[in-house]
Amino acid sequence: MATNIEFCGDVKSAGYDAIVVVAPNVSAVANADLKAPLKAVVDVDKKAENGVFLVPTSLPAKRIVFSSTGPLDKDFDDVRSFEDAAEKGVSRAIEAGAKKPLVVCHNKDEKSFPNAATVSVLGALKAAYVPIEVREAVPEKSKQVDAIGVFGDDKVKGILERAKALEWGRVVSRDIGGSDPERMAAPRIEEYVRKTFENSGVKVEVIKGQSTFEKEYPCLAAVNRAASSVPRHDGRVIWLTYEPEGPVEKTLMMVGKGITYDTGGADIKAGGIMAGMSRDKCGAADVAGVMKAVSLLKPKNVKVIGAMACVRNSVGEECYVSDEIITSRAGVRIRVGNTDAEVIKEFRLSEASLIKHKVRLYVGSHGHGRRACPHEGEGSEGGEPAPDDDRHPDRPRGGLLWRLHRRHGQRARQEGAVRAEAAGHRRPLRRHV
Ligand SMILES: [Zn+2]
Repeated sequence: MATNIEFCGDVKSAGYDAIVVVAPNVSAVANADLKAPLKAVVDVDKKAENGVFLVPTSLPAKRIVFSSTGPLDKDFDDVRSFEDAAEKGVSRAIEAGAKKPLVVCHNKDEKSFPNAATVSVLGALKAAYVPIEVREAVPEKSKQVDAIGVFGDDKVKGILERAKALEWGRVVSRDIGGSDPERMAAPRIEEYVRKTFENSGVKVEVIKGQSTFEKEYPCLAAVNRAASSVPRHDGRVIWLTYEPEGPVEKTLMMVGKGITYDTGGADIKAGGIMAGMSRDKCGAADVAGVMKAVSLLKPKNVKVIGAMACVRNSVGEECYVSDEIITSRAGVRIRVGNTDAEVIKEFRLSEASLIKHKVRLYVGSHGHGRRACPHEGEGSEGGEPAPDDDRHPDRPRGGLLWRLHRRHGQRARQEGAVRAEAAGHRRPLRRHV
């Protein structure tokens, strides 16, 4: 349930109850009607323009919230400063009682930040998001705002459809990734995904059942062994496929780790570090989110396949333990060193098939986007950087795709980060497996 956004070309428009100005400082605000009341504050309180403040105005909206991006000229400044500022500004407007804020983004440096408007809109929408648990349990609180207006010229008008599609994807991603281990246990993820992609053009295929997993995905089956005895926790592998109109020139493939709860298994996460492990499914959540955006944007000539490996790493009499030897789908025998490193390695494809179909594969874990490799041994677990070392024991040596992968690694990393950001996960919660 994404918040509605609408374009507005005039800050004097009626129908809005707050104007949220996003800019590095008050001097950067171009519109005189907005600048004057803001300047009156910073004239007596210079510190105010470093943060967020609210002033009354004679404009129909009656209040203006200023939210600073901070300076944008340092080496490490990036476009997320706009997202943070828009989110804080809209949150402040909501706290003030606004139901329909109008966002005005000032970006003087189009060259450095060409996506500032889109990212600001996404930040504003993030502030208006209501978690699925709240929407379901307290329906009267399912909306924080009626809509968000976006001020700008025709160029800004042109980005709104894309921003809306990205936000839909982010909502799907947040709903699945952020929800608790019971609401988004694997069977309920399946239910949510089926509903989300109903009549969307994205094909949903679900694989389930421990005996099927043992045959098709033996590593995943090992993780699912304890959970499979509890039907409501039993795992699911969900494949999502988008087929474009016209010929397929490129195929993108994403695999997302969807550990609906990671206790660590018998290598149990002790000492209070287990809290938050319902978010070990953010990779799978991001796959669903990206597929949602794809289903709305309908890119041409690109086929997109997403796999969500949803399984719970439970502890119990059936749990797998260290020292077990499991033969993976690829026929590789793996001795389990630590049950806290759940395996989704079966999703590798053969080099030949990847080359033939021009497939680029991405693997996500905690939603922070990573490069991926068709070989086993890297990319499949979150947090750990893939070793840039051909002697890594898990990797077949000198494979053609590995070399290609190394060449394209940097680019894939960048694209992965963009994807993760689009799906709403700015940074990993913590570094772990
Ligand atoms: Zn994990």
